[in-house]
Amino acid sequence: MLHHERLRPPSHGYPADEWNVIETAFHPEFLAQLETMLALGNGYLGMRGCPEEGGPNAENGTFINGFYETRPIVYGEDAYGFAKTGQTICNVTDSKIIKLFVDDEPFWLPDAKLLSYDRRLNMKSGTLDREILWETPAGKQVSIKSRRLISFTERHVAAISYSVTLLNGQAFVVLSSEMRANAQNARGNSDDPRQTRAFSGRVLHPQTNYSKDRRIVLCHATRKSRQMLTCVTESALETVCSHNYKIVDSEDFGQVAFTIDARAGCPIQLNKYMVYHTSHTASAEELCGRAEWTMDRVTNQGFSQLLSSQEQYMQDFWGRSDVRVKDIRQDRTKRTTVEIQQAIRFNLFHILQASARADEVGVPAKGLTGQAYEGHYFWDTEIYLLPFLTYTSPRIARNLLIFRYNTLSQARARARELGHRGALFPWRTISGEDASAYYAAGTAQYHINADIMYALRKYALATGDEAFLRDCGAEMLVETARLWLDLGFYSQAKGGKFCINSVTGPDEYNTVVNNNAYTNLMARENLRYAAETVDTLRETAKDAYAALVHKTALEACESKAWRSAADNMYVPFDEKLKIIPQDDSFLDREPWDFENTPSDHYPLLLFFHPLNIYRKQVIKQADVVLAMFLLGDAFSAETKKRNFDFYDPLTTGDSSLSSCVEAIIAAQTGDVEKAIKYGMAALLMDLADVGGNVKDGCHIASMGGTWMMLAYGFGGMRDNDGVLSFCPRRAPQDNAVLQFPVTYRGQILEIDIGLEKVEYKLRQGERLVIRHETQDLELTRERPVAVRPVSRR
Ligand code: BGC
Repeated sequence: MLHHERLRPPSHGYPADEWNVIETAFHPEFLAQLETMLALGNGYLGMRGCPEEGGPNAENGTFINGFYETRPIVYGEDAYGFAKTGQTICNVTDSKIIKLFVDDEPFWLPDAKLLSYDRRLNMKSGTLDREILWETPAGKQVSIKSRRLISFTERHVAAISYSVTLLNGQAFVVLSSEMRANAQNARGNSDDPRQTRAFSGRVLHPQTNYSKDRRIVLCHATRKSRQMLTCVTESALETVCSHNYKIVDSEDFGQVAFTIDARAGCPIQLNKYMVYHTSHTASAEELCGRAEWTMDRVTNQGFSQLLSSQEQYMQDFWGRSDVRVKDIRQDRTKRTTVEIQQAIRFNLFHILQASARADEVGVPAKGLTGQAYEGHYFWDTEIYLLPFLTYTSPRIARNLLIFRYNTLSQARARARELGHRGALFPWRTISGEDASAYYAAGTAQYHINADIMYALRKYALATGDEAFLRDCGAEMLVETARLWLDLGFYSQAKGGKFCINSVTGPDEYNTVVNNNAYTNLMARENLRYAAETVDTLRETAKDAYAALVHKTALEACESKAWRSAADNMYVPFDEKLKIIPQDDSFLDREPWDFENTPSDHYPLLLFFHPLNIYRKQVIKQADVVLAMFLLGDAFSAETKKRNFDFYDPLTTGDSSLSSCVEAIIAAQTGDVEKAIKYGMAALLMDLADVGGNVKDGCHIASMGGTWMMLAYGFGGMRDNDGVLSFCPRRAPQDNAVLQFPVTYRGQILEIDIGLEKVEYKLRQGERLVIRHETQDLELTRERPVAVRPVSRR
């Protein structure tokens, strides 16, 4: 239930536009929010949307996925097995600075007389574009146009095209293209546990610096995590106006300052290229060499080539991922069709920016838009992002799963440390080691194991990538199944059922509980999938099975034990309420006093001691309701409805991961009003700053959740049993049209849900059988199939 209004009016008005998020005037009061919203990234490199001129900044940030520094986690009272080493993503060298001076007058946004201002996140071209007309105190009018991109095709590269044209008179113009390291790193340390921890002192230690021509190279290393970073910039000026330049480099600073005799109407074009390389193993010298090779290549290409590759990449991305809506009824959503289309694209675009080139690393909870949550990877990736990526960009999905596979040895070690067999993936991590500083809402979330295996299954079924399942997936399945078997036990008190005690489910307001229903249900899936995969390999792929036995010392009897635990898994059920209790003690708890909780006391975690929350019946985020979505086939519509009706009033939605899931179950159970309410909160989570903390970074999981909400919730997509099916429901009063593509087994299917008909078209591929309601449909490229949608009463 909405105990407090989740959806507030947008913090600043940006006009409705299908392809752009536009700032139409400079808003110093929304600096931090806009830095997040207008951030650029490619999954490897990210830059907050700060202006080129070196400020003003709320929290300037440049991040490289997986580039972190460590620190000891300090506990007031330590205990055996607590995670020891904190990991925090670093704010690396800021290379995007271009300062402008006209007749010695600095262009500084807060003071400048702006005759016009337009800055936009251009989601069609994958760029941040800005056009400004500035009048200097001396009456010179200056047009400033910039375009910034972080390349999707060149993983290590960012570029800025910055052009200045004097419109009247003549002036001495200076363009100072700069880079600076160690300006700011993890300020954090507020009372908000979601913020990042601060480092004391320098994080990046100088290794070498040099310059040649208009190229500057700065190389740094972290002390404890022992990672090396090289940042190279090159600045190229083009103008008919006479000019010269000076270059400076020092340990933490580099500058190419161009001095230009500017004349009215003569454009001054500065193209700045920025290259980042990082390594665990390379020496400073080698890494600088690598970064320079990349720089040689991109400066040869030039900005226009980088831009056209970016546009091409975006065109391909939207072609296989865009979700389109038409004819939205504004009286129901309070937003126009264009506004909703804009919000959908904003969410999908930021997912791409968070993940596209996360080649074999994870996706931080905030993507690369902020340092909150320390740049850690959570279950957010597997449960919230991977469905979208699996069905639109399977290569990215595979890379993210490979990251987990590559950390399997650490997961094995962690399981051993906690006294378990098998492997336990970390609740939060960058390096692969558990970095949860609060075990109750961290390490105890064992469900991470099952979440990863759930995503693996979805990926394997949707792509048919048997090689991945055989070579990497099976090994993870064996080790995670072993963990569950070891963690749980057959409880006499529960009629001999297999129980799992002292774990935390997704809902972080009820920690270290017995038989969290979500965990048990997902563990059951994990055990079954492991048994099925191992048995199939044994029968059909002898060599692969032998390799698996070699890697895991698998014994023939193990899969039987996993099946038996799964078949006997305890799933709590309350006969009186006819619902699934979230855990063994949930129903015994005292109800939370929602009535007397002021609406500004959410999220509760910032206003109440954890114990006061834990002892009450109050939920942070969808838990049983999430299981009902993820394992949809296991529950009847009636069961879903009864559970949703019970849990909805207890759910605060204090986590951004909740609204999208609540919207899906509301849509699936026919509660259209709630589906729209929760759906809008999810869709506008960041554009309308629903959680009030968009300044700290985008809510990437919720963004992934918006795709699930559109595809699975409103689009009626189902894939639990390995057959791609659709049961789109129409509400009679609804006109909306929903269209989206799905990549399935290398083919692209287009789904078009209209008022009178649902059309399925095979856009790429030869032949695909899908299911509509209970009917199998065979599609070929020449033969789309149209059927009538079932209407909702
Ligand atoms: C949520 C977790 C989530 C994390 C990172 C927390 O507030 O409770 O489920 O993984 O944020 O997004």
